[in-house]
Amino acid sequence: MKSEKVMRHFEMSWPEFEILAKKTNYAILPVGAIEQHGPHLPMGTDVIIGEYLTERLAMATGAILLHSLAYTPSFSCRYYPGTVRVSDETFTSELVEIAESLYLHGIETIYVYLAHLGAAAACKAAERKLLLTSKARLINLLLPGYQEALGKFCRSERWHPIYVHAEEYETSALLAIRPDLVDMTKAVKEYPEIDPLLGSISIPWNEFSASGVIGDATVATAETGQAILDYIYEKSLEVIRIHQDSLEP
Ligand SMILES: [Zn+2]
Repeated sequence: MKSEKVMRHFEMSWPEFEILAKKTNYAILPVGAIEQHGPHLPMGTDVIIGEYLTERLAMATGAILLHSLAYTPSFSCRYYPGTVRVSDETFTSELVEIAESLYLHGIETIYVYLAHLGAAAACKAAERKLLLTSKARLINLLLPGYQEALGKFCRSERWHPIYVHAEEYETSALLAIRPDLVDMTKAVKEYPEIDPLLGSISIPWNEFSASGVIGDATVATAETGQAILDYIYEKSLEVIRIHQDSLEP
């Protein structure tokens, strides 16, 4: 069900919500972070990317768009000035309670749209908790297709097979969505030595990255950003449609 405009939970009256929840039983919830993104990008980078993609997805599917969650787990960057860290336990509880609240009002499924890898463990825990205790369902989408998109469109070398942060991809995405918030004169390239234990133990990133960038932000362009965002959007839409089709009686 394509909609004419984005159905924003935050902007609806309760009677509007009641009518809409009779027509659509699912919603999309963007999850970002307020954490350092190098000297050239805003701390809300993941929120901005998540909101951009979910607006398009809500428009294409007719899903209700929930208000984004910005204060989320950010363990790795917690010592950089300005970063806000919420514990995994707190965030898991919040997601479970959001899902239970909305289930009461007819929203059976929430697509949790993760633009921030650091929140993934807490989102997984919430999804599992609901499976055991409730009929409300969370479906976690971690920027579907982003690995392929980065391989296809980025020119710079990846610093790490899993972690990407404030480098070519995120800088390019922001140049495409909110160029007014990017200061390319401060963009840097930083490829710290990789501790072989990274991932096995949680090393605060300030111990190896002075700028907070891991990779090359200097080669970012708005064109690269738009190509990556479009790719992720298409993949995300595909995943939501496959899931919705699997629910059809
Ligand atoms: Zn980010």
